[in-house]
Amino acid sequence: MVKLVLILGDQLSEEVSALREADKACDVVVMAEVADEAGYVPHHPKKIAFIFAAMRKFARQLEEAGWQVRYTRLDDDGNSGSIAGELLRRADETGAKEVIATEPGEWRLISALEDVPIPVHQFPDDRFLCAHDEFDDWAEGRKELRMEYFYRQMRRKTGLLMEDDKPAGGKWNFDHDNRKPAPDDVDFGGPMHFTPDDTVEEVLDLVEARFGENFGTLRPFWFATDQGQARRALSHFIKQALPRFGDYQDAMLQENRFLYHSVISMYLNAGLLGWREVCEAAEAAWRSGDAPINAVEGFIRQIIGWREYMRGIYFREGPEYTARNILRYDRSLPAFYWTAETDMLCVAKAVEQTREEAYAHHIQRLMITGNFALLAGIDPAEVHEWYLAVYADAYEWVEAPNVIGMSQFADGGIVGSKPYVSGGNYINKMSDYCGDCAYSVSKKTGEGACPFNLLYWGFLDRHRDRFEKNPRMAQMYRTWDKMDAERRRTVLADAAAVLERLDAGDRV
Ligand SMILES: Cc1cc2nc3c(=O)[nH]c(=O)nc-3n(C[C@H](O)[C@H](O)[C@H](O)COP(=O)(O)OP(=O)(O)OC[C@H]3O[C@@H](n4cnc5c(N)ncnc54)[C@H](O)[C@@H]3O)c2cc1C
Ligand code: SF4
Repeated sequence: MVKLVLILGDQLSEEVSALREADKACDVVVMAEVADEAGYVPHHPKKIAFIFAAMRKFARQLEEAGWQVRYTRLDDDGNSGSIAGELLRRADETGAKEVIATEPGEWRLISALEDVPIPVHQFPDDRFLCAHDEFDDWAEGRKELRMEYFYRQMRRKTGLLMEDDKPAGGKWNFDHDNRKPAPDDVDFGGPMHFTPDDTVEEVLDLVEARFGENFGTLRPFWFATDQGQARRALSHFIKQALPRFGDYQDAMLQENRFLYHSVISMYLNAGLLGWREVCEAAEAAWRSGDAPINAVEGFIRQIIGWREYMRGIYFREGPEYTARNILRYDRSLPAFYWTAETDMLCVAKAVEQTREEAYAHHIQRLMITGNFALLAGIDPAEVHEWYLAVYADAYEWVEAPNVIGMSQFADGGIVGSKPYVSGGNYINKMSDYCGDCAYSVSKKTGEGACPFNLLYWGFLDRHRDRFEKNPRMAQMYRTWDKMDAERRRTVLADAAAVLERLDAGDRV
């Protein structure tokens, strides 16, 4: 009996479990560009184009490998607009009575598949290193779910950077050697660019016509859209940038949007690259003496550590996770998250680059746009929607724990043991933004004082009950308490004035 094999837009790998469970001789692969998925948040046009182009190329790859594929284009007549609708339509056409799927990376879709009126068997997505059960076993009974301990388990499990049962270089974590301020010169020209071929051009025209009004610049479009290109982008990074990845991981420069970052998250998350090939390539660079241990360890930790840990948290915490709001914030997301029209140069630059590239690196997401939203008390659900929409690598399983957990502390400390907040000093140390900003980072109060400085103290004061006893925050409260009372009153009044301007829609 023929079965349908569902392949979603972020499952573009011949290794996915649904294909392994299927019979090439008789089963029919279903792939569909549908309005529901393209429109449930206003995705960046580059993100939509990337996924549709990569889907079209992957469908062709499957056909060449002998699969029968029914592919629905967004503008096809009869497109029902939803994954469930397309499965039913294809079941009618083929007489299939059941569907094989790989578990989606989002509760919303898992439940949509459960509701399809024909049986859909969802097999685990074993492209990941850590299965749900294994993460739960690790988490069970622990008071705190610290990523570092999870990561060590993943190092032992994979044998990556291990020498016998000891970590290579004698330490698990070389972050101490990383996090240098922005360099004067960057000797890496950024990620590999690919000229759009006919398939990509056709998709770009479609996306321009249908999603041209969404936040984000579509052209120039330079992403890899198939496995071969993604692998070339990976080896370009390994050769040209990995050696300095660790040193400048946290730095930010106005004129250099990518520094030494890999810019492969969208390829990993869509299935064009796998964690193993990426980590093995990095490890090989260290073993051959082409990249230092601090860079390679730091890079591998992001992938088998943070990436897997975030997925573990998302599935462990359940569908309600995205609604968490422990700090009870309800301020609307300021318009400048969409327009970049703010005098805060760091925020303007992060939003501009997000608009043009559908990319910002980790510290821009965490310590600029994320930091500001947390300090200003923005509703985390709105922050979550923004991040889900604007980045090419954003899928809920990875975006939500990063935003709701790590960046907004809305989960009450499951992901982070303390909120990631800072005043302007940190941003000034790690970037070249402040020198050209209309605000003064050295001014702590009064006209022209950096809003991060003001809101930072406002945040600490507002949440004293919650954070005062946190050992990682005690020093900040000591510094605040040492300021004289008059100065503290001025800081809080100035911070309140910034929030009033935000609420009134005035330029900040
Ligand atoms: C507020 C916020 C939102 C984020 N949203 C997303 C998202 O939607 N999708 C996403 O893939 N990442 C997200 N991240 C994590 C991280 O910022 C991106 O993975 C990274 O910036 C991608 O760029 P890169 O490929 O150049 O990464 P590099 O800096 O080169 O790192 C290498 C790889 O490590 C992985 N990685 C690094 N940090 C993380 C992390 N914290 N969580 C998961 N994987 C990580 C990524 O796969 C990345 O490609 C978010 C982080 C924050 C603070
Ligand atoms: S002065 Fe403040 S607002 Fe301006 S760039 Fe620096 S940190 Fe950002």
